[in-house]
Amino acid sequence: MEHFDAIVCGSGPAGLAAALAAASHGAATLLLERDHMIGRKLCATGNGRCNFSNTLPPLKFMERFGRNGRFMTDALRAAPREFFLDLLQQEGIRPVVEDEIHYFPMNGRAPDVRDAFLRAARRAGAETRLSTGVRRILVENGAVKGMETQSGETITAEHVILACGGTAAPALGGSDSGLELAKSLGHTVREPVATLAPIHVDNPWTGELAGLTMADAELGVMNGTKHISMRGSLLFTHGGFSGPAAMDLSGAVNRILANEGTARVFLRALPGQREQGWFDYFVRERETVPDHLLKNSLARVLPRSFAGLVCERMFGPEFHSKRLTNAAAHELAHFLDRIEFTVSRPASMDEAMAMDGGVSLREVDPRTMGSRIVSGMHFAGEILDLTGPTGGFNIQFALSGGYLAGLSAAQH
Ligand SMILES: Cc1cc2nc3c(=O)[nH]c(=O)nc-3n(C[C@H](O)[C@H](O)[C@H](O)COP(=O)(O)OP(=O)(O)OC[C@H]3O[C@@H](n4cnc5c(N)ncnc54)[C@H](O)[C@@H]3O)c2cc1C
Repeated sequence: MEHFDAIVCGSGPAGLAAALAAASHGAATLLLERDHMIGRKLCATGNGRCNFSNTLPPLKFMERFGRNGRFMTDALRAAPREFFLDLLQQEGIRPVVEDEIHYFPMNGRAPDVRDAFLRAARRAGAETRLSTGVRRILVENGAVKGMETQSGETITAEHVILACGGTAAPALGGSDSGLELAKSLGHTVREPVATLAPIHVDNPWTGELAGLTMADAELGVMNGTKHISMRGSLLFTHGGFSGPAAMDLSGAVNRILANEGTARVFLRALPGQREQGWFDYFVRERETVPDHLLKNSLARVLPRSFAGLVCERMFGPEFHSKRLTNAAAHELAHFLDRIEFTVSRPASMDEAMAMDGGVSLREVDPRTMGSRIVSGMHFAGEILDLTGPTGGFNIQFALSGGYLAGLSAAQH
């Protein structure tokens, strides 16, 4: 029977970093991948260009993952962004920063990022096997003993690192396989919902604006009495919204839908402007340019197609500012302050870039990424119940967490 010090399940960024860390710290390491290709999802990230990190300092970076973000403090210390930037440079990949925040490889090729990590892991001594899915984790007396592959082969090991990712994007290998393995060990899994996905609304009028991008909008949702909102670029689609603001909010919306069946999403098209500000604006327009069409007044501060649609829906096509009564100005100001939409259909995992949910963080030691239930088990990457927004957060978390898991496996 074959034996390794550490077996890594899954060859995404978490698994590749884990294999690299374990092998380069002296552990006999085997990386298993169910698919016939290494890092299929990684190769599709960032529209094939791989936005693998960003420039935020660690505290700000962690904040963007929500209240559990600090879970990754040790992982970011063990393998900070600079470590991976150096590694990529050494492998001949030049990282560049776009929009002053997002890291991409200069040549714009995600598969090259994958190859760089794979090369480094193999050079450190990690063995890789494709088309080898893990079916069962073997445990004896509360400690890992190895695993069984889908073809029934048993391989023993002191450490197993589950880096099987999540259920998002099944066409790129997303599945619940890792979550089921974690459950079989007694781990709690928070039910996955789609995140980093579009939001489908029930109000069809948004479809008339399909293709419109607002560079800076605020999209929010009420979760009980808690108000969650995201700000950023927003794209109108035939069925609702996409773009970073919508995608970053989608996990919260889908979680509410899973619990309550419907969610109320609201849009603030000009985030700095509140109801009173809008009212004052329209009154000023009425006094200074009374003969202007109201939609043209609105189009000075909001996209023309949006302004036209809103004014025409509320007041008809040729409505001049001078006809706006105070009551109507209040009504319009109130509407623009908080444009409400109903959502009753969650995005599917096919549309999602990540899952929200996963292995409970309470059962994983953030200092080692080790299981608090089965000794020798480790978790890293999207399988964990910690998901960041769009913009290089999730790959960086997978890389750093994976590296710490591999390091811990090699050292214990
Ligand atoms: C289209 C798209 C674009 C994205 N763009 C970005 C981006 O630009 N920046 C960013 O930060 N994030 C992006 N993401 C999210 C990012 O891809 C994931 O967060 C990241 O890949 C998670 O890494 P992981 O290693 O945990 O899991 P994965 O990358 O999903 O890898 C898990 C691997 O485990 C394998 N596996 C599963 N079960 C088993 C098993 N039983 N046995 C053996 N192997 C198994 C799978 O086949 C898979 O290869 C994007 C996602 C998608 C879908």
